[in-house]
Amino acid sequence: MRTTPVIAIHGGAGTISAAALDASAAAAYHDALRTIVLAGQALLLRGASALDAVCLAVEMLEDCPLFNAGHGAVFTSAETHELDAAVMDGAELRAGAVAGVSRVRHPVHAARAVMDDGAHVLLAGAGAEAFARGRGLEMVEPEYFSTEARREQLRRARAEGRVALDHDGAARAAALSTAPLDETNKFGTVGAVALDRRSHLAAATSTGGMTNKRVGRIGDSPLIGAGTYADDKRAAVSCTGSGEMFIRTAAAYDVCARMRYAGQSLAQAAHAVIMQAVPAIGGSGGLIAIDRAGNVCLPFNTEGMYRGHARGAEAPHTAIHR
Ligand code: ASP
Repeated sequence: MRTTPVIAIHGGAGTISAAALDASAAAAYHDALRTIVLAGQALLLRGASALDAVCLAVEMLEDCPLFNAGHGAVFTSAETHELDAAVMDGAELRAGAVAGVSRVRHPVHAARAVMDDGAHVLLAGAGAEAFARGRGLEMVEPEYFSTEARREQLRRARAEGRVALDHDGAARAAALSTAPLDETNKFGTVGAVALDRRSHLAAATSTGGMTNKRVGRIGDSPLIGAGTYADDKRAAVSCTGSGEMFIRTAAAYDVCARMRYAGQSLAQAAHAVIMQAVPAIGGSGGLIAIDRAGNVCLPFNTEGMYRGHARGAEAPHTAIHR
């Protein structure tokens, strides 16, 4: 009997206050999440691989005007963009990632190309861009990623001397602003995990990083084992949150390690990482995960996390707050 496919996506976690998200903005997020889950679900139901499904979902999230990956990425302290992305195939533990790119329209495609090429796992900066160009991927000017809303977030973060998680910056900007929040603002690192008909798992993550980050800073998203991990024998995991703490706790891999060495269920392992290990060193955020049996776990220790998932041909579920 073939496995029932499952897909889950996230659009980042953080402070998603009522001030930053009125009813119509919330509806727009639900619609976007639903559309993207439906696209990934349809692909899986046609027999596509988990790998193709997570790449499609992340590509759509990168293009979506509501999330912080691709167009609308946050700014570094130098008012530039440095995007990170990773993809991992749980079947053979193949992985690819790019870090600090600012000219590749879809960083997840570049990560996939690195994986398919097979020689390396992680390419950074100009070398990653040259590789992507050589593979025929769509290139853009760095300004393509810029939006006025992100510039405003950077101004706030600079004024307060902070390096901000995307949603926290957005919420703060909304709280401080007298103008109504622009509903076209884009918030949130994105990711997808999937289980396909052949029982293979895959994960992908893409981000603009954190507002006001230092030039050259690389977050957890493109680091295999930190922000992204997939192993057919355990789970597929994509994280979002304060990247440094996810790196220090090897968060995505820790979910799989707890399942493997401690015999924990997906739910136990994912909750231990997000509710204990990451906050124990001051980290905040969440993750999405699917195990080999198709269990889905979407824990977060922040006010909210944009998320959605679907099992088989069932209607997708989407959620923002608890
Ligand atoms: N984890 C990402 C980073 O640190 C940020 C996010 O999840 O929004 O780059």
